Amino acid sequence: MNQVTSTGGGTIRILIVGGGCAGLASAQRLQRELQQDLRSGRAEITLVEAAPYLTCRPLLAEVAAGAVDPRHVVVPLRGALPDCRVLAARTSRIDHARRLAWLAPQGGIEVELPYDELILAVGACSRRPPIPGLAEHGLGFETVGEAVALRARVLEQLDLASTTRDVELRHAALTFVFVGAGYGGVSALAELADLVRRVLRDYPNIQSEDLRWVLVEPGDGILAEADPELAESALEQLRDRNVDIRLGTTLESAEEGLLVLSDGTKFAARTLVWTAGVRPAPLLAATDLPLTADGRVHCLDTLQVVGPDGGPLPGAWAAGDCAAVPAAPGGHCRRGAQHALAQAELLAGNLLATRTGAVPEAYHPEPGDASASLGPRNAVAHAGGRRLTGRRARLVHRARTLRQVPSAERRVRILADWLLGGLFASGPRVP
Ligand SMILES: Cc1cc2nc3c(=O)[nH]c(=O)nc-3n(C[C@H](O)[C@H](O)[C@H](O)COP(=O)(O)OP(=O)(O)OC[C@H]3O[C@@H](n4cnc5c(N)ncnc54)[C@H](O)[C@@H]3O)c2cc1C
Repeated sequence: MNQVTSTGGGTIRILIVGGGCAGLASAQRLQRELQQDLRSGRAEITLVEAAPYLTCRPLLAEVAAGAVDPRHVVVPLRGALPDCRVLAARTSRIDHARRLAWLAPQGGIEVELPYDELILAVGACSRRPPIPGLAEHGLGFETVGEAVALRARVLEQLDLASTTRDVELRHAALTFVFVGAGYGGVSALAELADLVRRVLRDYPNIQSEDLRWVLVEPGDGILAEADPELAESALEQLRDRNVDIRLGTTLESAEEGLLVLSDGTKFAARTLVWTAGVRPAPLLAATDLPLTADGRVHCLDTLQVVGPDGGPLPGAWAAGDCAAVPAAPGGHCRRGAQHALAQAELLAGNLLATRTGAVPEAYHPEPGDASASLGPRNAVAHAGGRRLTGRRARLVHRARTLRQVPSAERRVRILADWLLGGLFASGPRVP
């Protein structure tokens, strides 16, 4: 058990902003290591998070497909952090020079919160450019509510297509478009395409050839956050499953459900999912911490924020999607849950090490252990230097995803959902 004291000899106050993957993982490790200090009042950990729960986003596609119960992918922060103080509020600004943060609780008055050590883990936000019609017709895919809404939208289209006599309306109902080929877009498309394929037996007048799945990506490949070899393998598999993948293409307009792409294609679609692009969390611009050109917090490989002299800025740390952490060769670590969790774990250890005068360790990303879901029977994964596809990759991906869920109780529930799903997979209907 670590013993820490504040610089003034009193209580050390650790403030964690953001309760997503990185924020919760760093809080859990600090809670474990500082248990005695927390209980005796020698240390205090405050986690400030806009929503008082964590959403396991890598499992949202399985929520949309009905493979996992929506409640099982959210983890209440207070339950996971019994020895910490969890505040459900938005942090509006930070003055690190004065070691002060300002919190804005919903509907309440802004309050000041002093701290000794700051951990920034505010992630990134999705970016919605002002494309005509996108706000009215585009669905998001970041929250449990959005995943459930997307499932309902897709299933509604099958009912519509099976009853209408309007040929154009039928085509639009059976056209599903995902813009953005990151983890969210790819996994949601793959899971939902499989769900629809399975329920088609209940719609005898719809054939699988009537369905159109389109993936629009402005970049020159899919899964930009993943290893390039893995991404290429996922691309091949989706193409084999007749997904119409448009690389180097953007959505120009979605007015009245008529989609216009930058390659000149026009078609009607009643399901448009927007998962493209991220922007830095707005809070980062309201701090006095150094930012890189892409708006992330400039960090050393020890996850300490860079100070004016290029060395560590005392008392400031960052991890996850909001942190620009150096990675060879000469770039920054990619965004993703795996990095967020590994960085958070190291950050907590380094913070404790520096309090006792030890040297912090550098973060070395593990490039070989990535994976991505491509539906209930498929995935792509790297494991032990080997590239896996199909059911074995799916098994590896599920095991990794399960390990990332920060609650034993939720892990058991998710596992039970999977086992029951497997048991009833050959049954006649999808609930
Ligand atoms: C649908 C989907 C599927 C994904 N699948 C995968 C996958 O398979 N594999 C993978 O590696 N990655 C995946 N990702 C990406 C992964 O979820 C993120 O990379 C990861 O969550 C980053 O962790 P983080 O802690 O940095 O940020 P987050 O988990 O986003 O947490 C940041 C938290 O900070 C809070 N916050 C922000 N601003 C403030 C503020 N001002 N005050 C208080 N709180 C604030 C937010 O509410 C949020 O809870 C997926 C993402 C999505 C959307």
